[in-house]
Parts: sequence; C-alpha cells; structure tokens
Amino acid sequence: MPREHTPTVSETEVALVADQASLGLLRFDEALRVRTANLAAHHALERRPGSLLGRTLMETFVDHKLEDLVRAAADGESGVRESDSRDRTSIIVRARPASDGGAWVTIENVTELQRLRRIRSEFIDNLSHELRTPLANIRLLTEMLLDDLENEEVSVRMRERVATIDIETGHLVQMINELLDLSRIEQTSTQVRNDKVLLAPLVASSMRRLHTFAERQGVVLVELVPDDLPPIRGDEERLDQLLMNLLHNAVKFSPGGGTVTVTSDEHPDGVVISVADHGVGIPTKDQARVFERFYKVDRARERGLGGTGLGLAIARHIAEAHGGRIWLESVEGQGSTFSFSLPFA
Ligand code: ADP
Repeated sequence: MPREHTPTVSETEVALVADQASLGLLRFDEALRVRTANLAAHHALERRPGSLLGRTLMETFVDHKLEDLVRAAADGESGVRESDSRDRTSIIVRARPASDGGAWVTIENVTELQRLRRIRSEFIDNLSHELRTPLANIRLLTEMLLDDLENEEVSVRMRERVATIDIETGHLVQMINELLDLSRIEQTSTQVRNDKVLLAPLVASSMRRLHTFAERQGVVLVELVPDDLPPIRGDEERLDQLLMNLLHNAVKFSPGGGTVTVTSDEHPDGVVISVADHGVGIPTKDQARVFERFYKVDRARERGLGGTGLGLAIARHIAEAHGGRIWLESVEGQGSTFSFSLPFA
C-alpha cells in the first residue's frame, strides 16, 4: 500500500478541531495530569483558555466526587456523574479509560437545559393553578344542573349531554391534578422520603384498593410477592402511587377474564417489581415513548378509555427519584409487563 494514502492527522490539527466542539474534552495521562483540554472544557470548568494543561485532578475539578470518577476510569471503570457545585453551573461529566493509561473525560454543560426545565415546570405549575378554579366552578354548576334536571321534563338526549359534560369535566380535573402532581414530583425528585418500606404489604394494599375496579372489568389480580422480601428505603406514599398507576393500566387494558400478576425478583443490590397483564399490548414503535407526558397509544384514545397520559410519566419520576428505573416488555396483542427496580438501602 502506498504510504501517502495512509491518513495521518497531527495532534495540533486534532486540538484545533476539538476547540470547535461544544462538548468539553479532557485527556488525563497516566500520572492523572491534564494532557489535552479543549476550549469547551475550559469554559465548562470556568478557567482561562489553556490554563488546564498539566493540572492535577484536584486542581482541575475541585470536587472529590469527580476526582474519584476519573481515578476509577483510569483503573478501567467508566462512569458518569452530574455536578452543580459551581455558581449554578450544571455539568455532566463522563469518564472512560484511555487505551494507553489515564482517562478520557467529556464535560457537558447542561445549565441552560436545567434552566429551561425549571421554567417549563413553573409554567405548568402556574397554568394548572389558574385552570383549577374555573374548572371547579364548571363542575359544581354541572352537578347542580344535573340535580335540577331530575325534576324537569327534558329529553333523554339533553340529560345525556349534561351527564357527558360532567364526565369530561371530571377528566379535566383529574388531568390538572396529575399535572400538578407531576410538576411537584419533578421539582423535588432528589428529595423523596427515606423510610423503611416493606414491599409485600404495599403491593397487597394497592391491590385491595383496586379490587372493585378489577372486578368491574372482570379481571383477576394475583400477588406473588414473598413476605420476607427485605425492606427498601423510600417514600411509601409515592411508591404506592407508582404501583397504583401500573396496576390501574394493567387492569384497564386487560380483556374480561384476564389476569394481572405482580411478581418480585430479588437481586444482591435491590429488588425488581413487575406488573404483567395479557391485554392489548403496546406496539414496538410506541414502547420507548409511553413514559413521556401525555403520550398515548392511539387505540387507547379510540376506545375512549379515558386517562390523561400522565400516569407513566409520574411512575418513571418516582422510580428514578428512588435511584431505580422503570421499563417495559410488551408484545402487541399478547400483553405487557412493566417493571421497576429499587435499590436496597
Ligand atoms: P393513561 O392515563 O392514558 O393510562 P399512562 O401514562 O398511564 O396514561 O399510559 C400512557 C399510554 O400507554 C396509555 O394511554 C396506553 O396507550 C399505554 N399503556 C400503558 N399501560 C398499558 C398496558 N398495561 N397495556 C397496554 N397499553 C398500556
């Protein structure tokens, strides 16, 4: 192979390109000193351009958690950490081992993203509060109207229309309440309660409360969570809300005669709770999106099953606020299994 075809790029050239990137890029050598740092890295760490070269870990980050992260990467273990220590600057730092010792580090500045998130949250909060009062009035008036109609000679159609207004207003009120709930959970996601929670009794009590709804739908609830499951640390009320959302969906989307089963799976570092149904299932293309706010698979809408599309968004926030995650497996037409993990204390 002729030599001139082998592409070579000088280190200076790489550095020039790296300076164009908005992602902060740092390379630590084996002695854990900065060997390369692009402009964005200097900006994210609030340093004068060029001043990071040769710095130690401590001098670079002034944050022992970030130092540990990079040290672990140099020892072969990749990792990621969020940090917002510097005057309201939020960064996400990722570190991975470099091939010849040391570590590569990327720094993503998410300050603006978080500011926008906060604004969105406040907007939803304000809007929901504003909508609450007029809605409560409409609801009250509709109920009064329904009462009035009891003693009047009116057509069935009219009675039905008012009844529908009443039902739809109820949906709106529920949606507003869930929106407020979601924005509250989002704003306090890092500070849920830290009580000792036994999962078996929690699952049993959620199931008891759903019993009537399940019976009406002709669905059987089965609980397979062992009583001796070690306790986890968390917020009982929120975990109950998470479970109720999953169970409610499972029953809602099950056919008459179906079964909804709750199981648990104990791991060394935590427990996984799963809620399985044999209902309509969720198409593959929608699976990644059902945890987004307001996302609904079309059919659910067509079948007029109500619901706000917020339940799973709330569920995801609760799982993540507990240091866990939530996911689903589903085959369209065969059923869905929603699972969430919770780490042990
Ligand atoms: P909703 O209030 O509409 O139930 P969720 O956020 O709880 O809102 O769920 C979002 C959407 O995900 C639902 O509208 C439905 O299309 C789908 N979904 C959730 N759970 C199930 C399930 N167990 N089986 C089938 N589809 C489901």
